[in-house]
Amino acid sequence: MDDEKRNPGVDPYDVIVVGAGVIGLSVAWCAARKGLAVCVVERSEPGAGASSVAAGMLAPVGEASFGEEALLELSLASHAIWPEFSENLSAATGLETGFLLLGALHVAFDGDEAAEMQRKGDLHERLGLDSSWLSPDRCRELEPRLAPNLVGGLYVPGDSAADPRQLVTALQAALHSEGVEIVSNTVPSGCGFGDSGVTLEIPDGAPLLAKRMVLAAGAWSGDPESAWLPEALRAEVRPVKGQIVELAAEPPHSHPVAERIVCGERFYAVPRSDGSLVIGATVEEKGFDTGITAGAVHELLREGYRALPDLAELRFVGARAGLRPATPDNAPLLGSNPIEPRLLYATGHFRNGILLAPVTGEVIASLLVDEEPDLQVDLDLFRPDRFIKPSDPSKAVTV
Ligand SMILES: Cc1cc2nc3c(=O)[nH]c(=O)nc-3n(C[C@H](O)[C@H](O)[C@H](O)COP(=O)(O)OP(=O)(O)OC[C@H]3O[C@@H](n4cnc5c(N)ncnc54)[C@H](O)[C@@H]3O)c2cc1C
Repeated sequence: MDDEKRNPGVDPYDVIVVGAGVIGLSVAWCAARKGLAVCVVERSEPGAGASSVAAGMLAPVGEASFGEEALLELSLASHAIWPEFSENLSAATGLETGFLLLGALHVAFDGDEAAEMQRKGDLHERLGLDSSWLSPDRCRELEPRLAPNLVGGLYVPGDSAADPRQLVTALQAALHSEGVEIVSNTVPSGCGFGDSGVTLEIPDGAPLLAKRMVLAAGAWSGDPESAWLPEALRAEVRPVKGQIVELAAEPPHSHPVAERIVCGERFYAVPRSDGSLVIGATVEEKGFDTGITAGAVHELLREGYRALPDLAELRFVGARAGLRPATPDNAPLLGSNPIEPRLLYATGHFRNGILLAPVTGEVIASLLVDEEPDLQVDLDLFRPDRFIKPSDPSKAVTV
């Protein structure tokens, strides 16, 4: 249906997406490209959540952890389609996503750190991932501004990065050109599921109608205070706070402190193409608090400086805090609620939402048009109901 002729409260969309972070925006874009009529509802402005705070590492190998093989498969699948996703976005909008194939160097400054990184290298070898242990001299050949007292590093050539804020802007422009409506500064006040589909109540306006709804509200997807969504349908997601520091080269492009992502045990530094640097990130269980603390800024600068002393010459731009949407097993929730299949989940991406945006968009858009996603990954491992014990009556869905 032509969007201009849509009559609010009467004409249904194919899908309403709740939340305009990179996940909701990617889902909306992929769905629109499959011909669906999409509306995105955002309680603030697009990118207001974690998506504009993220450093933007696309690091399936560097972030691979023991016991998270399913997440690794999904991350590799998304990393493989990131270049095409970025090219398609740029072709559709003329805007960049900041995608750069940088590689990453994980550096160690004492024996303990080296042992931990070599253990990670062993995991990579066991999983067939590309990484190699480098001597201090070889590390400094790659990154001449590294502190001279390093004892070695694990080089991951395939990891890359994008600029999440550029990504949000490009996705918004792409949605605009697809005719997707973004309803900003609007918090839903209720929702219902009936024979005719989904009704999303919004204050001061006619309800929005759709055949299906996608929950992409990031860390707020399981918020006990979000009364608009019945408790039984809220996602098993909690907020995990992260703070980052931004530094800029003055003038731009003049002072590349690092050419690659540089990671230590307690920090990472992600370079942007203009010479600026994002240093991250704390991991804090502080509920929905997003305050910036002196301690976090101090710790990030101290750890970054220990590895890359020249960053002291960069201009301090500021610090940001955001809430990662975390699940009990650190992997996202993808797919429909088995009891209320008109509700799909695209949330819980924790530390990897920027990396996982392309694959999430593709998977959820395929499910919305009742197609099998074109993916060599077992999506059952990301079922939204995987944490609910069949015997848990409090989670029985009655809506
Ligand atoms: C410090 C930090 C560093 C990170 N670094 C990386 C990284 O290097 N690489 C990587 O891949 N990932 C990284 N992440 C993780 C990444 O930011 C998240 O996984 C990702 O942004 C999640 O996207 P999202 O769209 O699900 O959530 P969000 O970006 O939080 O978006 C959710 C949106 O939903 C909206 N919303 C909430 N409730 C409602 C409601 N009731 N109605 C309407 N709208 C609502 C919010 O306002 C928000 O805009 C980092 C995160 C942090 C905090």
